[in-house]
Amino acid sequence: MSLHQELIDRDRQVTFHASTHLRDFAHGDAPGRVISGGKGINIVDKDGREFIDGFAGLYCVNIGYGRTEVAEAIYRQALELSYYHTYVGHSNEPQIALSEKILELAGPGMSKVYYGMSGSDANETQLKIVRYYNNVLGRPQKKKVISRMRGYHGSGIASGSLTGLKAFHDHFDLPIETIRHTKAPYYYHRGADQEGMSEREFSKYCAQKLEEMILAEGPETVAAFIGEPVLGTGGIVPPPEGYWAEIQAVLAKYDVLLIADEVVCGFGRIGAEFGSHYYGIKPDLITVAKGLTSAYQPLSGVIVGDRVWKVLEQGTGEYGPIGHGWTYSGHALGCAAGLANLEIIAREGLTQNAAETGAYLQQQMQAAFGDHPIVGQVRGVGMLAALEFSASPAKREHFDPSLKVGPRIAIAALEENLIVRAMPQGDILGFAPPLVITRDEVDEVVARAKRAVDRVT
Ligand code: PLP
Repeated sequence: MSLHQELIDRDRQVTFHASTHLRDFAHGDAPGRVISGGKGINIVDKDGREFIDGFAGLYCVNIGYGRTEVAEAIYRQALELSYYHTYVGHSNEPQIALSEKILELAGPGMSKVYYGMSGSDANETQLKIVRYYNNVLGRPQKKKVISRMRGYHGSGIASGSLTGLKAFHDHFDLPIETIRHTKAPYYYHRGADQEGMSEREFSKYCAQKLEEMILAEGPETVAAFIGEPVLGTGGIVPPPEGYWAEIQAVLAKYDVLLIADEVVCGFGRIGAEFGSHYYGIKPDLITVAKGLTSAYQPLSGVIVGDRVWKVLEQGTGEYGPIGHGWTYSGHALGCAAGLANLEIIAREGLTQNAAETGAYLQQQMQAAFGDHPIVGQVRGVGMLAALEFSASPAKREHFDPSLKVGPRIAIAALEENLIVRAMPQGDILGFAPPLVITRDEVDEVVARAKRAVDRVT
Protein backbone atom coordinates (compact mmCIF):
# COMPACT_ATOMS: atom_id res chain seq x y z
CA MET A 1 0.00 0.00 0.00
CA SER A 2 1.32 3.50 -0.82
CA LEU A 3 2.13 5.92 1.97
CA HIS A 4 -0.62 8.15 0.58
CA GLN A 5 -3.24 5.40 0.84
CA GLU A 6 -2.07 4.55 4.35
CA LEU A 7 -2.51 8.17 5.41
CA ILE A 8 -6.00 8.35 3.90
CA ASP A 9 -7.00 5.19 5.75
CA ARG A 10 -5.73 6.58 9.05
CA ASP A 11 -7.59 9.82 8.34
CA ARG A 12 -10.85 7.93 7.78
CA GLN A 13 -10.55 6.53 11.29
CA VAL A 14 -10.02 9.77 13.15
CA THR A 15 -11.05 12.95 11.34
CA PHE A 16 -14.48 14.60 11.14
CA HIS A 17 -14.16 16.49 7.85
CA ALA A 18 -15.86 19.74 6.89
CA SER A 19 -18.60 19.56 4.22
CA THR A 20 -18.11 15.84 3.64
CA HIS A 21 -20.40 12.80 3.43
CA LEU A 22 -19.37 11.48 6.83
CA ARG A 23 -20.53 7.90 6.45
CA ASP A 24 -19.15 7.40 2.95
CA PHE A 25 -15.82 8.90 3.88
CA ALA A 26 -15.46 6.93 7.12
CA HIS A 27 -16.31 3.67 5.31
CA GLY A 28 -14.07 4.19 2.32
CA ASP A 29 -16.88 4.94 -0.17
CA ALA A 30 -15.82 8.53 -0.86
CA PRO A 31 -12.36 9.56 -1.98
CA GLY A 32 -9.78 11.22 0.21
CA ARG A 33 -6.59 13.07 -0.64
CA VAL A 34 -3.67 14.26 1.43
CA ILE A 35 -2.17 17.49 0.15
CA SER A 36 1.48 17.79 0.96
CA GLY A 37 2.85 20.84 -0.84
CA GLY A 38 2.25 23.77 -3.11
CA LYS A 39 4.08 26.30 -5.26
CA GLY A 40 2.55 29.22 -7.14
CA ILE A 41 -0.85 28.13 -8.44
CA ASN A 42 -0.10 24.40 -8.06
CA ILE A 43 -0.57 21.95 -5.24
CA VAL A 44 0.76 18.43 -4.94
CA ASP A 45 -0.61 15.38 -3.13
CA LYS A 46 1.27 12.73 -1.19
CA ASP A 47 1.61 10.60 -4.35
CA GLY A 48 3.39 13.51 -6.03
CA ARG A 49 0.46 14.24 -8.35
CA GLU A 50 0.29 17.91 -9.23
CA PHE A 51 -2.92 19.90 -9.73
CA ILE A 52 -3.55 23.47 -10.82
CA ASP A 53 -5.55 24.95 -7.98
CA GLY A 54 -8.16 26.89 -9.91
CA PHE A 55 -9.97 27.84 -6.70
CA ALA A 56 -7.04 29.02 -4.53
CA GLY A 57 -8.03 26.62 -1.75
CA LEU A 58 -11.40 28.11 -0.83
CA TYR A 59 -10.75 31.34 -2.73
CA CYS A 60 -8.19 32.40 -0.17
CA VAL A 61 -4.60 31.65 -1.25
CA ASN A 62 -4.36 34.87 -3.22
CA ILE A 63 -0.56 35.18 -3.29
CA GLY A 64 -0.15 31.53 -4.28
CA TYR A 65 1.50 28.67 -2.42
CA GLY A 66 5.00 28.35 -1.02
CA ARG A 67 5.82 32.00 -0.34
CA THR A 68 8.90 31.79 1.88
CA GLU A 69 8.66 35.50 2.72
CA VAL A 70 5.43 34.90 4.64
CA ALA A 71 6.78 31.77 6.32
CA GLU A 72 9.82 33.74 7.44
CA ALA A 73 7.71 36.60 8.77
CA ILE A 74 5.70 34.12 10.85
CA TYR A 75 8.90 32.41 12.05
CA ARG A 76 10.58 35.68 13.04
CA GLN A 77 7.49 36.78 14.92
CA ALA A 78 7.20 33.41 16.68
CA LEU A 79 10.78 33.70 17.91
CA GLU A 80 10.11 37.15 19.28
CA LEU A 81 6.55 36.78 20.57
CA SER A 82 4.18 34.11 19.28
CA TYR A 83 1.22 35.23 21.36
CA TYR A 84 -0.07 37.46 24.03
CA HIS A 85 -3.75 38.30 24.42
CA THR A 86 -5.17 41.64 23.34
CA TYR A 87 -7.69 42.10 26.13
CA VAL A 88 -7.71 45.33 28.18
CA GLY A 89 -5.54 47.27 25.81
CA HIS A 90 -2.68 44.81 25.28
CA SER A 91 -1.24 44.79 21.80
CA ASN A 92 1.62 43.60 19.63
CA GLU A 93 3.49 45.40 16.88
CA PRO A 94 2.17 43.43 13.91
CA GLN A 95 -1.41 44.05 15.07
CA ILE A 96 -0.85 47.81 15.16
CA ALA A 97 0.86 47.90 11.76
CA LEU A 98 -1.76 45.63 10.18
CA SER A 99 -4.66 47.73 11.48
CA GLU A 100 -3.01 50.85 10.03
CA LYS A 101 -2.58 49.10 6.70
CA ILE A 102 -6.15 47.76 6.55
CA LEU A 103 -7.63 51.17 7.39
CA GLU A 104 -5.45 52.80 4.74
CA LEU A 105 -6.68 50.31 2.13
CA ALA A 106 -10.32 50.56 3.25
CA GLY A 107 -10.31 54.32 2.73
CA PRO A 108 -12.06 57.21 4.50
CA GLY A 109 -14.85 56.63 7.00
CA MET A 110 -13.41 53.52 8.60
CA SER A 111 -12.24 53.80 12.16
CA LYS A 112 -11.01 50.56 13.83
CA VAL A 113 -10.28 46.88 13.20
CA TYR A 114 -11.34 44.00 15.46
CA TYR A 115 -9.66 40.62 14.79
CA GLY A 116 -10.89 37.05 14.81
CA MET A 117 -9.84 33.77 13.22
CA SER A 118 -12.47 33.09 10.56
CA GLY A 119 -15.06 34.78 8.41
CA SER A 120 -17.76 33.06 10.45
CA ASP A 121 -16.59 34.41 13.78
CA ALA A 122 -16.13 37.87 12.27
CA ASN A 123 -19.78 37.84 11.21
CA GLU A 124 -20.78 36.73 14.72
CA THR A 125 -18.95 39.84 15.92
CA GLN A 126 -20.86 41.92 13.37
CA LEU A 127 -24.17 40.71 14.74
CA LYS A 128 -23.16 41.50 18.30
CA ILE A 129 -21.99 44.98 17.27
CA VAL A 130 -25.31 45.66 15.57
CA ARG A 131 -27.29 44.62 18.66
CA TYR A 132 -25.09 46.60 21.01
CA TYR A 133 -25.27 49.66 18.74
CA ASN A 134 -29.06 49.75 18.85
CA ASN A 135 -29.16 49.10 22.59
CA VAL A 136 -26.87 52.07 23.17
CA LEU A 137 -29.12 54.18 20.94
CA GLY A 138 -32.13 53.14 23.03
CA ARG A 139 -33.74 51.10 20.24
CA PRO A 140 -33.91 47.59 21.72
CA GLN A 141 -36.52 46.55 19.11
CA LYS A 142 -34.17 47.23 16.20
CA LYS A 143 -32.37 43.85 16.07
CA LYS A 144 -33.33 41.98 12.90
CA VAL A 145 -30.74 41.46 10.19
CA ILE A 146 -31.64 40.96 6.55
CA SER A 147 -29.39 38.81 4.43
CA ARG A 148 -30.01 37.42 0.96
CA MET A 149 -31.03 34.06 -0.37
CA ARG A 150 -27.85 32.46 -1.74
CA GLY A 151 -25.66 34.70 0.42
CA TYR A 152 -22.84 32.97 2.26
CA HIS A 153 -21.64 34.36 5.57
CA GLY A 154 -20.36 31.38 7.51
CA SER A 155 -21.29 28.21 9.31
CA GLY A 156 -21.98 29.12 12.95
CA ILE A 157 -25.42 29.34 14.54
CA ALA A 158 -25.77 33.04 13.74
CA SER A 159 -23.41 33.33 10.76
CA GLY A 160 -24.89 30.12 9.32
CA SER A 161 -28.31 31.72 9.73
CA LEU A 162 -27.13 34.71 7.68
CA THR A 163 -26.10 32.25 5.00
CA GLY A 164 -28.98 31.79 2.59
CA LEU A 165 -28.25 28.27 1.36
CA LYS A 166 -30.52 25.40 2.27
CA ALA A 167 -27.75 22.86 2.83
CA PHE A 168 -26.36 25.01 5.65
CA HIS A 169 -29.75 25.29 7.40
CA ASP A 170 -31.43 21.93 7.02
CA HIS A 171 -31.27 19.65 10.05
CA PHE A 172 -29.56 22.35 12.14
CA ASP A 173 -32.81 24.23 12.88
CA LEU A 174 -31.53 27.39 11.20
CA PRO A 175 -32.02 30.23 10.58
CA ILE A 176 -32.43 31.75 14.03
CA GLU A 177 -35.40 33.99 14.72
CA THR A 178 -33.90 37.45 14.12
CA ILE A 179 -32.61 36.80 10.59
CA ARG A 180 -34.49 37.20 7.31
CA HIS A 181 -33.53 36.53 3.69
CA THR A 182 -34.50 38.75 0.80
CA LYS A 183 -34.30 38.15 -2.92
CA ALA A 184 -30.94 37.23 -4.43
CA PRO A 185 -29.67 39.63 -7.12
CA TYR A 186 -29.44 36.73 -9.54
CA TYR A 187 -30.55 38.05 -12.90
CA TYR A 188 -29.98 34.77 -14.71
CA HIS A 189 -32.45 33.10 -12.34
CA ARG A 190 -35.11 35.82 -12.58
CA GLY A 191 -38.64 34.46 -12.38
CA ALA A 192 -41.21 34.29 -15.16
CA ASP A 193 -42.82 37.57 -14.03
CA GLN A 194 -39.43 39.31 -14.26
CA GLU A 195 -38.58 37.80 -17.65
CA GLY A 196 -38.81 41.01 -19.67
CA MET A 197 -36.88 43.16 -17.17
CA SER A 198 -33.54 44.74 -18.02
CA GLU A 199 -30.75 44.34 -15.45
CA ARG A 200 -31.47 47.83 -14.16
CA GLU A 201 -35.15 47.10 -13.79
CA PHE A 202 -34.35 43.85 -12.03
CA SER A 203 -32.07 45.75 -9.59
CA LYS A 204 -34.94 48.11 -8.81
CA TYR A 205 -37.18 45.11 -8.33
CA CYS A 206 -34.72 43.54 -5.83
CA ALA A 207 -34.58 46.85 -3.93
CA GLN A 208 -38.39 47.03 -3.95
CA LYS A 209 -38.54 43.49 -2.48
CA LEU A 210 -36.12 44.59 0.23
CA GLU A 211 -38.22 47.65 1.00
CA GLU A 212 -41.39 45.54 1.18
CA MET A 213 -39.66 43.23 3.65
CA ILE A 214 -38.49 46.11 5.83
CA LEU A 215 -42.00 47.57 5.87
CA ALA A 216 -43.60 44.20 6.61
CA GLU A 217 -41.22 43.57 9.52
CA GLY A 218 -41.47 47.17 10.72
CA PRO A 219 -38.49 49.47 10.07
CA GLU A 220 -38.13 49.99 13.83
CA THR A 221 -37.17 46.27 14.09
CA VAL A 222 -34.63 46.07 11.23
CA ALA A 223 -31.06 46.79 12.29
CA ALA A 224 -28.83 45.78 9.41
CA PHE A 225 -28.46 44.35 5.93
CA ILE A 226 -25.52 42.11 5.05
CA GLY A 227 -24.31 41.23 1.56
CA GLU A 228 -21.27 40.13 -0.37
CA PRO A 229 -20.39 42.63 -3.13
CA VAL A 230 -20.42 39.62 -5.49
CA LEU A 231 -22.46 36.61 -4.36
CA GLY A 232 -19.77 33.96 -3.83
CA THR A 233 -20.57 30.49 -2.60
CA GLY A 234 -24.18 31.00 -3.72
CA GLY A 235 -23.00 30.81 -7.34
CA ILE A 236 -20.37 33.51 -8.11
CA VAL A 237 -22.91 36.05 -9.30
CA PRO A 238 -21.84 39.65 -9.97
CA PRO A 239 -24.69 42.04 -9.12
CA PRO A 240 -26.95 43.30 -11.90
CA GLU A 241 -26.33 46.84 -13.09
CA GLY A 242 -27.26 49.49 -10.54
CA TYR A 243 -28.03 46.99 -7.77
CA TRP A 244 -25.95 48.43 -4.95
CA ALA A 245 -27.09 52.01 -5.48
CA GLU A 246 -30.74 50.90 -5.32
CA ILE A 247 -30.17 48.81 -2.19
CA GLN A 248 -28.27 51.57 -0.40
CA ALA A 249 -31.04 54.07 -1.08
CA VAL A 250 -33.54 51.79 0.68
CA LEU A 251 -31.22 51.17 3.65
CA ALA A 252 -30.62 54.90 4.12
CA LYS A 253 -34.36 55.57 4.08
CA TYR A 254 -34.99 53.26 7.05
CA ASP A 255 -31.76 53.82 8.99
CA VAL A 256 -30.54 50.27 8.43
CA LEU A 257 -26.79 49.60 8.78
CA LEU A 258 -24.95 48.06 5.85
CA ILE A 259 -22.43 45.27 6.44
CA ALA A 260 -20.28 44.44 3.42
CA ASP A 261 -19.03 40.88 3.67
CA GLU A 262 -15.72 41.23 1.84
CA VAL A 263 -14.35 37.84 2.92
CA VAL A 264 -13.94 36.81 -0.73
CA CYS A 265 -13.73 40.17 -2.53
CA GLY A 266 -11.40 41.94 -0.09
CA PHE A 267 -7.71 42.49 -0.93
CA GLY A 268 -7.78 42.34 -4.68
CA ARG A 269 -9.87 39.37 -5.78
CA ILE A 270 -12.05 41.33 -8.24
CA GLY A 271 -9.39 43.81 -9.31
CA ALA A 272 -10.02 46.51 -6.67
CA GLU A 273 -8.82 46.64 -3.07
CA PHE A 274 -12.37 45.90 -1.94
CA GLY A 275 -15.53 44.87 -3.73
CA SER A 276 -17.13 47.90 -2.09
CA HIS A 277 -14.79 50.20 -4.02
CA TYR A 278 -15.57 48.43 -7.27
CA TYR A 279 -19.36 48.77 -6.86
CA GLY A 280 -19.54 52.10 -5.02
CA ILE A 281 -20.75 50.54 -1.76
CA LYS A 282 -20.41 52.67 1.38
CA PRO A 283 -20.65 50.17 4.22
CA ASP A 284 -20.90 50.92 7.93
CA LEU A 285 -19.09 47.69 8.74
CA ILE A 286 -16.85 45.39 6.68
CA THR A 287 -15.98 41.72 7.21
CA VAL A 288 -12.61 40.47 5.97
CA ALA A 289 -10.74 37.15 6.19
CA LYS A 290 -9.32 34.81 3.49
CA GLY A 291 -7.21 37.19 1.34
CA LEU A 292 -6.12 39.12 4.44
CA THR A 293 -3.43 36.50 5.06
CA SER A 294 -3.87 34.41 1.90
CA ALA A 295 -4.56 31.64 4.47
CA TYR A 296 -0.95 31.44 5.67
CA GLN A 297 -2.52 31.91 9.12
CA PRO A 298 -6.18 31.96 10.10
CA LEU A 299 -7.17 35.60 10.59
CA SER A 300 -10.31 37.66 10.08
CA GLY A 301 -11.28 41.22 10.78
CA VAL A 302 -14.28 43.44 11.37
CA ILE A 303 -13.64 46.96 10.10
CA VAL A 304 -15.83 49.39 12.00
CA GLY A 305 -16.90 52.65 10.39
CA ASP A 306 -16.90 56.00 12.22
CA ARG A 307 -20.67 56.17 12.69
CA VAL A 308 -20.80 52.82 14.52
CA TRP A 309 -17.53 53.33 16.36
CA LYS A 310 -18.76 56.52 18.03
CA VAL A 311 -21.75 54.64 19.42
CA LEU A 312 -19.60 51.73 20.66
CA GLU A 313 -17.41 54.21 22.53
CA GLN A 314 -20.46 55.87 23.98
CA GLY A 315 -21.76 52.44 25.07
CA THR A 316 -18.67 51.51 27.02
CA GLY A 317 -18.86 54.94 28.61
CA GLU A 318 -22.25 53.88 29.99
CA TYR A 319 -21.89 50.10 30.45
CA GLY A 320 -18.17 49.56 31.06
CA PRO A 321 -15.71 47.40 29.03
CA ILE A 322 -17.29 45.60 26.08
CA GLY A 323 -18.19 41.97 26.83
CA HIS A 324 -16.79 40.52 23.63
CA GLY A 325 -13.42 38.91 22.97
CA TRP A 326 -11.64 35.87 21.58
CA THR A 327 -8.50 34.40 23.12
CA TYR A 328 -6.82 34.76 19.75
CA SER A 329 -8.04 38.26 18.76
CA GLY A 330 -5.11 40.05 17.14
CA HIS A 331 -2.92 36.94 17.22
CA ALA A 332 0.65 38.09 16.59
CA LEU A 333 1.43 35.32 14.10
CA GLY A 334 -1.76 35.96 12.13
CA CYS A 335 -1.05 39.69 12.00
CA ALA A 336 2.58 39.09 10.95
CA ALA A 337 1.34 36.83 8.15
CA GLY A 338 -1.24 39.46 7.15
CA LEU A 339 1.37 42.19 6.92
CA ALA A 340 3.75 40.07 4.83
CA ASN A 341 0.84 39.03 2.60
CA LEU A 342 -0.39 42.60 2.02
CA GLU A 343 3.17 43.68 1.25
CA ILE A 344 3.41 41.03 -1.46
CA ILE A 345 0.02 42.02 -2.92
CA ALA A 346 1.17 45.66 -3.12
CA ARG A 347 4.72 45.01 -4.35
CA GLU A 348 3.71 42.53 -7.03
CA GLY A 349 0.67 44.53 -8.13
CA LEU A 350 -1.63 41.55 -7.61
CA THR A 351 -4.79 43.64 -7.42
CA GLN A 352 -3.86 45.08 -10.80
CA ASN A 353 -3.13 41.57 -12.06
CA ALA A 354 -6.57 40.46 -10.87
CA ALA A 355 -8.02 43.27 -12.99
CA GLU A 356 -5.91 42.68 -16.12
CA THR A 357 -5.29 38.94 -16.16
CA GLY A 358 -8.78 38.60 -14.68
CA ALA A 359 -10.21 40.38 -17.73
CA TYR A 360 -8.23 37.94 -19.89
CA LEU A 361 -9.68 35.02 -17.90
CA GLN A 362 -13.24 36.30 -18.49
CA GLN A 363 -12.52 36.73 -22.19
CA GLN A 364 -11.04 33.24 -22.58
CA MET A 365 -13.92 31.69 -20.66
CA GLN A 366 -16.39 33.41 -22.98
CA ALA A 367 -14.44 32.27 -26.03
CA ALA A 368 -14.32 28.65 -24.83
CA PHE A 369 -17.80 28.30 -23.36
CA GLY A 370 -19.97 31.16 -24.67
CA ASP A 371 -21.65 28.94 -27.28
CA HIS A 372 -21.25 25.62 -25.57
CA PRO A 373 -24.39 23.45 -25.81
CA ILE A 374 -24.62 22.83 -22.06
CA VAL A 375 -23.43 26.21 -20.77
CA GLY A 376 -26.26 28.58 -19.89
CA GLN A 377 -24.11 31.45 -18.67
CA VAL A 378 -20.43 32.37 -18.43
CA ARG A 379 -20.00 35.12 -15.84
CA GLY A 380 -17.54 36.71 -13.50
CA VAL A 381 -15.51 39.73 -12.55
CA GLY A 382 -11.78 40.03 -11.96
CA MET A 383 -10.37 36.73 -10.79
CA LEU A 384 -13.77 35.20 -10.02
CA ALA A 385 -15.59 33.29 -12.73
CA ALA A 386 -18.36 30.74 -13.10
CA LEU A 387 -19.96 28.47 -15.63
CA GLU A 388 -23.63 27.73 -15.08
CA PHE A 389 -24.73 24.59 -16.88
CA SER A 390 -28.11 24.31 -18.48
CA ALA A 391 -30.11 21.54 -20.14
CA SER A 392 -31.34 24.13 -22.64
CA PRO A 393 -29.33 27.36 -22.68
CA ALA A 394 -31.83 29.18 -24.90
CA LYS A 395 -34.58 28.59 -22.32
CA ARG A 396 -32.31 28.81 -19.25
CA GLU A 397 -33.55 25.40 -18.19
CA HIS A 398 -31.80 23.65 -15.34
CA PHE A 399 -30.58 20.09 -15.45
CA ASP A 400 -32.35 17.58 -13.22
CA PRO A 401 -30.33 17.89 -9.97
CA SER A 402 -30.13 14.10 -9.68
CA LEU A 403 -27.87 14.11 -12.77
CA LYS A 404 -25.27 15.99 -10.70
CA VAL A 405 -23.85 17.67 -13.79
CA GLY A 406 -21.78 20.26 -11.86
CA PRO A 407 -20.15 17.76 -9.47
CA ARG A 408 -19.46 15.33 -12.34
CA ILE A 409 -17.68 18.05 -14.31
CA ALA A 410 -15.62 18.98 -11.24
CA ILE A 411 -14.55 15.32 -11.02
CA ALA A 412 -13.73 15.26 -14.74
CA ALA A 413 -11.59 18.38 -14.17
CA LEU A 414 -9.70 16.57 -11.42
CA GLU A 415 -8.86 13.89 -13.97
CA GLU A 416 -7.31 16.74 -15.96
CA ASN A 417 -5.38 17.72 -12.82
CA LEU A 418 -7.41 20.88 -12.42
CA ILE A 419 -9.23 21.83 -9.23
CA VAL A 420 -12.36 23.90 -9.74
CA ARG A 421 -15.34 24.01 -7.41
CA ALA A 422 -18.78 22.56 -7.92
CA MET A 423 -20.70 25.26 -6.06
CA PRO A 424 -23.07 23.87 -3.42
CA GLN A 425 -26.38 24.91 -5.03
CA GLY A 426 -27.11 24.42 -8.73
CA ASP A 427 -24.94 23.15 -11.55
CA ILE A 428 -22.28 25.82 -11.29
CA LEU A 429 -18.54 25.47 -11.64
CA GLY A 430 -16.51 28.13 -9.84
CA PHE A 431 -13.09 29.49 -10.77
CA ALA A 432 -11.04 31.66 -8.39
CA PRO A 433 -7.35 31.04 -9.02
CA PRO A 434 -4.56 32.65 -7.00
CA LEU A 435 -4.06 36.27 -8.06
CA VAL A 436 -0.49 35.48 -9.18
CA ILE A 437 -1.78 33.53 -12.18
CA THR A 438 -0.28 34.42 -15.57
CA ARG A 439 -1.94 34.51 -18.99
CA ASP A 440 -0.28 31.23 -20.00
CA GLU A 441 -1.61 29.62 -16.86
CA VAL A 442 -5.09 31.00 -17.57
CA ASP A 443 -4.90 29.35 -21.00
CA GLU A 444 -4.03 26.06 -19.31
CA VAL A 445 -6.90 26.35 -16.80
CA VAL A 446 -9.41 27.07 -19.57
CA ALA A 447 -8.06 24.27 -21.80
CA ARG A 448 -8.33 21.72 -19.00
CA ALA A 449 -11.79 22.94 -18.01
CA LYS A 450 -12.90 22.67 -21.65
CA ARG A 451 -11.74 19.05 -21.88
CA ALA A 452 -13.57 18.27 -18.63
CA VAL A 453 -16.85 19.84 -19.79
CA ASP A 454 -16.63 18.17 -23.17
CA ARG A 455 -16.01 14.82 -21.50
CA VAL A 456 -19.26 15.03 -19.52
CA THR A 457 -21.34 16.54 -22.33
N1 PLP B 1 -18.25 35.22 4.33
C1 PLP B 1 -18.01 34.87 3.06
C2 PLP B 1 -18.41 35.82 1.97
C3 PLP B 1 -17.41 33.65 2.75
O1 PLP B 1 -17.22 33.30 1.48
C4 PLP B 1 -17.03 32.81 3.81
C5 PLP B 1 -16.38 31.52 3.54
O2 PLP B 1 -16.34 31.04 2.43
C6 PLP B 1 -17.30 33.22 5.12
C7 PLP B 1 -17.90 34.44 5.35
C8 PLP B 1 -16.97 32.33 6.27
O3 PLP B 1 -15.60 32.28 6.45
P1 PLP B 1 -14.94 31.07 7.24
O4 PLP B 1 -15.13 29.85 6.44
O5 PLP B 1 -13.51 31.52 7.38
O6 PLP B 1 -15.62 31.00 8.56
